[in-house]
Amino acid sequence: MEYNDLDAALLSGFTDYDNHYKVRHFTDSETGLKAYIAVHDKTLGPALGGCRMYDYKSEEDAIRDVLRLSRGMTYKNALAGLPLGGGKSVIIGDPASVKTEALMEAMGRAVHTMGGDYISAEDSGTNVADMALMARSTPYVMGLKSEDGALGGDPSPVTSYGVFCGLKTAVRRRYGSDNLMGLKAAVQGLGAVGYDLCRQLHKQGVELFVTDVRDDVLQKAKGEFEGLEIVGLDDIFSVDANIFAPCALGAQLNEQTVPQMKFDVIAGAANNQLATEDIGDLLAQRNILYTPDYVINAGGVIAVGYEYFEQTGKNPFSHDLTRENMMKHVETIEKTIDEVFNIAEERSLAPDRAADQMAEGVLAGVPKVSDVA
Ligand code: NAD
Repeated sequence: MEYNDLDAALLSGFTDYDNHYKVRHFTDSETGLKAYIAVHDKTLGPALGGCRMYDYKSEEDAIRDVLRLSRGMTYKNALAGLPLGGGKSVIIGDPASVKTEALMEAMGRAVHTMGGDYISAEDSGTNVADMALMARSTPYVMGLKSEDGALGGDPSPVTSYGVFCGLKTAVRRRYGSDNLMGLKAAVQGLGAVGYDLCRQLHKQGVELFVTDVRDDVLQKAKGEFEGLEIVGLDDIFSVDANIFAPCALGAQLNEQTVPQMKFDVIAGAANNQLATEDIGDLLAQRNILYTPDYVINAGGVIAVGYEYFEQTGKNPFSHDLTRENMMKHVETIEKTIDEVFNIAEERSLAPDRAADQMAEGVLAGVPKVSDVA
């Protein structure tokens, strides 16, 4: 395997470059691996973030993504109360056709070259089985299969629980009560997180409107959740519902979709929901309460972080590293979101800008009120 670190002169040509600590490029002619690992910031600890596999159209697209995603992880981990920095890796290639055992093993070797500065886990295009292959050559891979009730495994159910908690916080802020009974929610994307979120919302008596590109998951949901209505891919944005939960792709809140929206609250799992920062301001102007994506979707990284602390025997908390305590930590997302909304109100900012300021405060050593002891 060959690798080299990209220099600042090259990286500064990318708008998402933010003085990243290290960006390493890998190629492996034996397995066909083409990948990048970026560590954005290590102020709070080693960098934790998933390994994405995607059919990028160019090397530049892959670099742009790894720069943006690794920076996002710094902010996410800071507000999740984890003593971990931000990092991410991307593998270039369509997971459906290019992924092999040997390639994932090679990715494990790539992660190992970072010497523990970067810890990986699953992300879109990779799964628990891939993490097992990567872990053959490095201890710096988490999200591994585990016994029931133990730490580890697929982080998606933990993410969806965190999103559910955060959604209730936003509803409480908007309506004065977090009783969800009788509210309507539009859910975009019924994948690992979105489907589970529907299950939790349905249990609370929420009326569901859903969309997905996959008909099989839509039909399964229709059979499972009474009263659920399937809507078209482009119609989800104009559903007359209280809540919008984007759980599919990034950039779904944009100049085309926001003007169509009648929602009071946006609370969903997708990463990078705002097409640009201005869209956060537009939502605030339209009195739509936006719950910042990297705060509400931190459940998965909290799960993976706990697994890492357990594996390395370095517990930074004053409580034990049990699954129960990890879920309690996920519930602190509620308090953090409340703080974000408070700061947004105090400083007359859109919530996404308030969250960024809070995360920058944590990195500068200012503790959050909701910090886990
Ligand atoms: P997933 O791939 O399991 O599900 C995504 C779903 O969205 C799929 O069912 C897919 O068919 C559907 N979809 C794709 N394009 C669509 C479109 N244009 N319109 C409607 N539906 C579409 O992913 P996931 O793990 O459920 O994650 C969902 C989102 O949350 C992603 O943006 C992911 O990055 C983010 N996220 C996930 C986790 C996690 O733990 N899984 C953690 C943090 C953030």
